[in-house]
Amino acid sequence: MTDRRTELAGNLATVEHRIASACASAGRRRQDVTLIVVTKTYPVSDIRLLHELGVRQVAENRDQEAAPKAAECEDLSLTWHFVGQLQTNKVRSVASYADVVQAVDRPKLVSALSAAAVRTERELGCLIQVALDAESGGRGARGGVAPDGIEELATAVAGAPGLRLDGLMTVAPLAGPYAGRQQAAFERLLEFSSRLRADHPAANMVSAGMSADLEQAVMAGATHVRVGTAVLGDRPRLG
Ligand SMILES: *Cc1c(COP(=O)(O)O)cnc(C)c1O
Repeated sequence: MTDRRTELAGNLATVEHRIASACASAGRRRQDVTLIVVTKTYPVSDIRLLHELGVRQVAENRDQEAAPKAAECEDLSLTWHFVGQLQTNKVRSVASYADVVQAVDRPKLVSALSAAAVRTERELGCLIQVALDAESGGRGARGGVAPDGIEELATAVAGAPGLRLDGLMTVAPLAGPYAGRQQAAFERLLEFSSRLRADHPAANMVSAGMSADLEQAVMAGATHVRVGTAVLGDRPRLG
């Protein structure tokens, strides 16, 4: 084992233990929560080690970085999640490697993703990113649609060729009424999820929780947690 492999294996075991403990506290089955490892800023060599260690779900947030990494990992069976704010001029590229786009937050993005999915003959899973701190009709500082915009986007995704409505995603707000109240924020997301599932029963993914708050996400009922630093280490500050 290389040192890095040992380090990643240890970190994964710690995260696994955290998820399993949170599931036990919440009375949930471990298999109902999926770990997505956020590999942004880390090299393909780490993705290969993670794959050897059993990771099958990875996430990236910038197309410039993700596209070449995904191309280099084409031989690995990995599901790629795109979790960053997405500009329409990047959509064609993202649609060529992403399996799930977690940051759908405006109608223009839905039509662009649909056109790209049809062109590449791929089906793209879509999560609507909800900004719990956004004003009615608005968008969040870190992307996402205000809760009253979920339904319109869900209808658009569900009716768009090449797209599959998979569920909802959020990032815990840093400001506003939910600042510092991650579990309350995630519980709110779960309420929106159950409303969504009334009309779209298959859209049952709830992506919430990161390294610092994965327990709160599991307690609230998240089906997917997105963990970066707790597995890979602290990222160098960008820019
Ligand atoms: C970077 C990132 C994560 C992972 O955050 P960590 O704190 O490193 O676990 C999760 N979700 C999104 C949208 C991210 O950009």
